[in-house]
Amino acid sequence: MSIATTLIRPHDTEWGHSVAFGLIAIALAAAVFYVDTYTDIEGAIAVLYVVVMIIAAQATTRLGLLITAAVCAGLTLLSYAMTHSDDADLQSTIRLIVSLAALFVTTILLLKTETARLTTLAINSALKESEARYRSIFDRTRVALWERDYSRLRNYLMNIKAQGVTDIRAHAHANPAFVDHCVGLIDVVAANEAARELMGTQSSTPDALRRSIVPGKASFVDVLQALLDGDRIFEDKVEVRTEAGENKLVLLSISFPEDPAAFNRVVVSMVDVTQREMALKALAEAQAELTKASKAATVGAMSASLAHELNQPLGAIVVNSQTLLRWLDRDPPDLAAVRRSAERMIRDSQRASEIIQNTRNLLSPSSNTLETISLESLIDETMALMEHELQRSGTTVLVDRSPQLPAVAAVKIELQQVLINLITNAIQAMDENKSPKRTIKIAAERPDIEHVRIAVRDTGPGIAEGVKDKLFSPFFTTKATGMGMGLSICRSTLEARGGRLEGSNHREGGAIFEMYLLIKPEMEHA
Ligand code: ADP
Repeated sequence: MSIATTLIRPHDTEWGHSVAFGLIAIALAAAVFYVDTYTDIEGAIAVLYVVVMIIAAQATTRLGLLITAAVCAGLTLLSYAMTHSDDADLQSTIRLIVSLAALFVTTILLLKTETARLTTLAINSALKESEARYRSIFDRTRVALWERDYSRLRNYLMNIKAQGVTDIRAHAHANPAFVDHCVGLIDVVAANEAARELMGTQSSTPDALRRSIVPGKASFVDVLQALLDGDRIFEDKVEVRTEAGENKLVLLSISFPEDPAAFNRVVVSMVDVTQREMALKALAEAQAELTKASKAATVGAMSASLAHELNQPLGAIVVNSQTLLRWLDRDPPDLAAVRRSAERMIRDSQRASEIIQNTRNLLSPSSNTLETISLESLIDETMALMEHELQRSGTTVLVDRSPQLPAVAAVKIELQQVLINLITNAIQAMDENKSPKRTIKIAAERPDIEHVRIAVRDTGPGIAEGVKDKLFSPFFTTKATGMGMGLSICRSTLEARGGRLEGSNHREGGAIFEMYLLIKPEMEHA
């Protein structure tokens, strides 16, 4: 007996109920027919078929209901025909009509109820399906997810807000137990596998949450502030502490519902960005190293020019010191001539020391202060630095400046470095081309209200097809000994100061590189 009971499944139970209700309905219908046809009880007995319908409704479908209604109506008419075929009076006819009408109305109502029941069933099953889908996404996604109940915490915060607290940080500072109390008001409804993996714990209690807060970090207080302010979304990069005591950097995102009643199921997500942040830091460090290396390379490229420049004042100093000695050897020494020679020597030494200072500045990491720079002097000084290289390669430089260009606030050495890079690239491109007419045109103008532009155009082969997209990519080079960092560094140098660098081919041939520099309003008349 007990075995039979345990083997009954829900489906079997339903079937059993249906059969029972069906049998009761048939028995009742037979009884009603019997009383209606074979007894003398006066009254609309057939109205009781309504009860048959109601019982049948528990056991059958909509079609079954219609068939039952038809059978009941048929039995009512049959009974009427058998009992009143000869003496059909008005009263019995009215009873017949009332019974049929009751049957009809009941059928319609039962059909409607059945339709509503089926719709509710369909909605319920759709809901269950969507809940199951949500569960499966929740459980399987690689993003760490928690479902947390924030309703008690929200109520508490709304209470203290009503008491006039608006600055959570100050409130937490004044009440050391506040944060801990708030953590205790959060209940974790569910946590997925990724969440447990991230935190290295199976436990989702407030205690686990408490341990995950890194002391001294304001992130939890920021979440409380967002809740107090009624923000819908909280998103921030925050540090959390895993059960193993390791600090991780995560992207925390919480979407608070609009409806206060829904605060019992708030979804919290975390994405571990520790590795990504470390990679970004390493990349930034590598880039800084490369910038330094490129600076050194730029100086290397100029060293020939520097040697040449230093040669001239040093040669002059030697000549002047020999002359000075000769004036001193005279009897009596010509002191006025000695003084003139000494003065020339001082002037030349100063010139040599300026040249050396310029080189030092180029290498110095601290030459980072913004100065007011006129484009005219920037171009002239850069040309002077490149003079030797330009002469060596037989390159003519034509400079075209619009009148009254405003000054720019920039780090001079940075702009010089960009210009030197562009000019060196132009010279190398023309070397490669063996251009008979080696000309670089440098134009400075103001293309719009916010920028000045320095364009460097050459008569080389232009930028090759297929190279254009990669021109500014780090380590992209078409040169056998190139490093491929020049343009990439130039572009980031300008962008860091709000400017930009573009490169294209000129319609009349050759490549053109354009530096756009931001004009600060206060520089307008500088
Ligand atoms: P590198 O000079 O070490 O190759 P860059 O970043 O300065 O590195 O330049 C990248 C590439 O862009 C060069 O290898 C070259 O193919 C192309 N390029 C740069 N300047 C010019 C130019 N003026 N004309 C044609 N191609 C150029």
